[in-house]
Amino acid sequence: MENQTKVLVTGAGGFIGSHLVTYLKEKGYWVRGADIKYPEFAATDADEFEILDLRRWDNCLQATRGVEEVFALAADMGGMGFISNHHAQILYNNSLINLHTLEAAKTNDVKRYLYTSSACIYPEYLQESADAKPLKEADAYPAQPQDAYGWEKLVSEILCMHYRNDYGIETRTVRFHNIFGEKGTWEGGREKAPAAMCRKIAEAKLNGKTEIEIWGDGEQTRSFCYINDCVEGLYRLMRSDFSEPLNLGQDRMVTINQLADIIAEIADFKITKKHIDGPQGVRGRNSDNDKLREVLKWEPEISLEDGLKTTYQWIEEQVRRQATKDKEFSKIAGK
Ligand code: NAD
Repeated sequence: MENQTKVLVTGAGGFIGSHLVTYLKEKGYWVRGADIKYPEFAATDADEFEILDLRRWDNCLQATRGVEEVFALAADMGGMGFISNHHAQILYNNSLINLHTLEAAKTNDVKRYLYTSSACIYPEYLQESADAKPLKEADAYPAQPQDAYGWEKLVSEILCMHYRNDYGIETRTVRFHNIFGEKGTWEGGREKAPAAMCRKIAEAKLNGKTEIEIWGDGEQTRSFCYINDCVEGLYRLMRSDFSEPLNLGQDRMVTINQLADIIAEIADFKITKKHIDGPQGVRGRNSDNDKLREVLKWEPEISLEDGLKTTYQWIEEQVRRQATKDKEFSKIAGK
């Protein structure tokens, strides 16, 4: 352990954080995870895991003690349904988390700090049509993110820049574009579009009902990046000397209707789509990966179809397990 680099992953109980811990352990790091909850779907691979509320300064000091590097992933977040309905809560919680974690990292003499921002920082006015131009890093300004979630991410990006300039801490900032994969939230209201769609199709298949509800007309577009590419990109960015914000995502744009069709084909189940009112976010969004390729000499390489195959199989298994549990509960309850 003496020769191992010690790193902290905040949000290590969450989707990307739990995968990142596993990746970093395989690379030989000593890893501390911190979160308000343990990972829900598998035991953590971290050497040490601390349950801490990182909105609190004292907890941030505890989390960052004795580590050389921090991957800051903790955030109060979810899919469009959650983000567009909890502005004040998100702004308050995430501001506290990021202000306190970065200041504590400085206090504890952390050398490198990677902050996880989002494509949600990009201005709404550049994302008004389904065939919107891919977003370059420089497109962030003049700023006009759609939601409080994006505004907070933007301010925390600026915070990292100033901590780098004023205190010399080596900050890295990544802007994720829709990361998906297995062992992520798939139900309950915080799940994102790929997981929600996999769940709806798995439930339909199980119940023999073909109708799938889709928010809006389903012609809104996004790009989706599989989790294994995401953690690889995070690692490469942390090791690079690039300190400006960098996109991390796929640059293949699909409509939500196409996403549903790809999953239905993987599930080998014929669906009909029912379009209903619901939060859709911006109309069109894609990642411009020119800078990513230039800086990292790499880009995400796992296809949407391959990533969705693994993700769908895992979610179908969760849906079946849940259905069995519900049946057993009904039997016991005499329903
Ligand atoms: P996630 O919700 O699965 O993980 C976030 C984790 O932060 C959760 O485990 C949560 O419990 C933890 N957390 C929340 N409040 C906390 C607190 N007060 N103290 C300690 N921990 C707290 O989300 P994720 O998809 O793994 O996202 C990781 C990071 O990447 C987040 O910062 C998110 O905003 C960012 N991001 C993710 C995506 C994506 O597509 N998943 C896109 C853009 C940005």
